[in-house]
Amino acid sequence: MSQTDPPELTELSRLIEEGRSHFDIRELCQVQCAGRSLPVHSFTLGNDSPEVPAVGFFGGVHGLERIGAEVVLAYMRSLLMRLPWDTVLREQLKGVRLVFMPMVNPGGLWLGTRANPNGVDLMRNSPVEAVEPVPFMIGGHRLSRGLPWYRGHSQAPMEAESAALCELVERELLGRRFSLALDCHSGFGSRDRIWFPFAHTAQPIGHLPEMHALRTIFDQSNAHHTYIFEPQSRQYLTHGDLWDHLYLRATEQGERIFLPLTLEMGSWLWVKKNPRQIFSRYGIFNPLIVHRQQRVMRRHLALLDFFTRAASSYGNWLPTAAARERHRAQALACWYSEVVNPGT
Ligand SMILES: [Zn+2]
Repeated sequence: MSQTDPPELTELSRLIEEGRSHFDIRELCQVQCAGRSLPVHSFTLGNDSPEVPAVGFFGGVHGLERIGAEVVLAYMRSLLMRLPWDTVLREQLKGVRLVFMPMVNPGGLWLGTRANPNGVDLMRNSPVEAVEPVPFMIGGHRLSRGLPWYRGHSQAPMEAESAALCELVERELLGRRFSLALDCHSGFGSRDRIWFPFAHTAQPIGHLPEMHALRTIFDQSNAHHTYIFEPQSRQYLTHGDLWDHLYLRATEQGERIFLPLTLEMGSWLWVKKNPRQIFSRYGIFNPLIVHRQQRVMRRHLALLDFFTRAASSYGNWLPTAAARERHRAQALACWYSEVVNPGT
């Protein structure tokens, strides 16, 4: 890596150097960008038995939203620095698998674009078709790679980065009895949101009770949090969402539970507090002032750590029998009261 690389790529290289004796590091694919080849990496840590639960952290799907990659890299760095002395962490890792793909779209990061170097929006690139109307353009389209939110050609295979993400999730997460995923983005609205599927329909997922139970333990253990926890469909529908695709794949595997979440860090407030940011495309999606960046990082690191704990201890909070039905009823009332004829 050269000195002109974005700082996230430099930190990634450092983590590969410093972390190679702790993390299992794999190169998933190579992406061609501006005459150079950029590798896409995964990192795994903790117990590799398929019997233990797992949690996956993903960042940088949209190249412009660098803060998402930074949050995942910062969490990886925190774990790496704690491993030599933190006996609680070492104990925890005996019962859980941690999976990281901190920079899904290094070419987009390098170019400063939402899409990958082929002009494809990776979060519109799965084969899932929305079953209800999606917003024009934003919902995903096949008009031209020159326009944002392009899904790719209908006959083309998934982009290398999307395919690598899906293979990693299938290999490391979907084979387990329980797994969670958190994909870190920024740019929507002024509040931080935690979204869960579906994005392709306003109907609820089958694991709505489990999602509501997760929200409940999150509320209870973080009394002053300000995240809005909701299905993505409450905001807008899209074609081609990777997490809808992977959730549907997981439901084909019987009793397995896979709960994918997306962190959408609300960035409009960053812009409001520093209106000059609006003139920087990079600035709209990322906090520019150091103290704001530190506050963003602090808050979300606690969130990532919560998800690791929730995955580790899933047997203690997953609802069963009557409690499960109570969670379903509460979730339908909370999130789907406007949806006519919700599925069960
Ligand atoms: Zn995004």
